[in-house]
Amino acid sequence: MNEKEQQVYCNHCKEKVTWHIEPVNHQQQFFLTLFTLGMWAPIWIALTLMKIRCCDKCNATLYDE
Ligand SMILES: [Zn+2]
Repeated sequence: MNEKEQQVYCNHCKEKVTWHIEPVNHQQQFFLTLFTLGMWAPIWIALTLMKIRCCDKCNATLYDE
């Protein structure tokens, strides 16, 4: 697996860029879950499973076409 070598097109930079996985801020998610009385919990789980990719250049979120 050489997934890190793969470049993805960034809509912000208008070119192919390398990327990194955006780490989930679990402390922030925990407080959001408390604040919404547990309503946020499914989104927290989804964010953890999704592994959001971010552009190395501009930090924008990258989506698969
Ligand atoms: Zn970018």
